[in-house]
Amino acid sequence: MIPFSPPRIDDKIIKEVTVALQSGWITTGPRTKLFEKKIAEYCHVSDVLAVNSWTAGAELLLYWYGIKEGDEVIVPVYTYCATANIVRHRGAKVVMVDVSTDFGIDVSKIEKHITARTKAIIPVDVGGLPIDYAALNALLNKKSVKDLFIAETENQQKLGRILVLSDAAHSFGASYNQKKVGSQADFTVFSFHAVKNLTTAEGGAICINLPKPFENEEIYKILNTLSLHGQNKDALAKTQKGNWEYDVIDAGFKCNMTDILASIGLVELERYETETLPKRKEIFKMYSEGLANFDWAIVPEYHNNMKESSYHLYLLRIKNCSKAQRDLIIQEIFNQDVSVNVHYKPLPLLSYYKSLGYELNDFPIAKELWENEISLPVYYELTDEQINRVIEVVVNAVNKILQ
Ligand SMILES: *Cc1c(COP(=O)(O)O)cnc(C)c1O
Repeated sequence: MIPFSPPRIDDKIIKEVTVALQSGWITTGPRTKLFEKKIAEYCHVSDVLAVNSWTAGAELLLYWYGIKEGDEVIVPVYTYCATANIVRHRGAKVVMVDVSTDFGIDVSKIEKHITARTKAIIPVDVGGLPIDYAALNALLNKKSVKDLFIAETENQQKLGRILVLSDAAHSFGASYNQKKVGSQADFTVFSFHAVKNLTTAEGGAICINLPKPFENEEIYKILNTLSLHGQNKDALAKTQKGNWEYDVIDAGFKCNMTDILASIGLVELERYETETLPKRKEIFKMYSEGLANFDWAIVPEYHNNMKESSYHLYLLRIKNCSKAQRDLIIQEIFNQDVSVNVHYKPLPLLSYYKSLGYELNDFPIAKELWENEISLPVYYELTDEQINRVIEVVVNAVNKILQ
């Protein structure tokens, strides 16, 4: 069986985890802080906070921005449920917007969904391809859009507009306008979950990139404290002689990264540019070369003059294919021992969001994408022989089902 995206766990990872375990410090400590510093360097941002998941980190940011019941947060309809679930955790309303055929939020459709209650937007770099950040930022800074914004907290007053919290769960290492993803939004949050390009088993990181008058180093300290129950001294600081007393300044979250997991991340990051990304790019290239000539194949875009993907998900689409046919094709592929996936079942099809009244028919592009999409395996240890096998199996399955 060719799996879909197993993590790369080799001797180097095992050795570094062992060293971390034997170091006498297993929770947040020197390795986590080093990992944060290295991500900041890689992404060209001043401050990065490591957390235990994308979900926890992103919810922490909504809390920091004062998102509450009665507020609205815009999300693309085509994403993983986490993007919307955190909005519900804060009690706010999820406002869904349709996507373009490159799977990213359609910026031209956002403005009509902005109201006086809109407090934040969470665009998603689906598959690793950055969204159109320039157009989004231009829209949110437009006078008519800013004039609608009602600031209810100090941070909202300081920013004076809708917050951009980028869901970059897929796009670590992608580029936008020659810059690594991380500095295009107010906050950019990565996921280091086991299936992501760079993994720490579970984990995430927040790139802090707020405009003046915010001081990002200051915000780092606040978010760091909020990630540890609002406690003003972490476990490491408390180990210093006599330094036992602490205060709690807010009912904070508990979502810090551990040094054990950071040790995986440090190895992953060290070889990310030299091994991980080139390999993933090569896999995409082989898939596209093998498939693009079939007139039923719509191969994903992953490179243009503005952006380059992180090559996270190979989102193949099958032209003139119904959902029922797509499902048969997937069954056929699995029968040949190749694992594939569908990214994503749009939010309105999930029972919870359906029960809130969302309907897929209101999002025609998302409907079209989801019905004929198949994601192919992409992972470091995939061999050329296996890539060719995947192509062969996909071609045979499509030919068999679509005749
Ligand atoms: C994986 C994923 C998340 C959630 O990441 P966790 O680290 O598991 O919380 C959020 N958004 C998208 C688009 C994802 O694919």
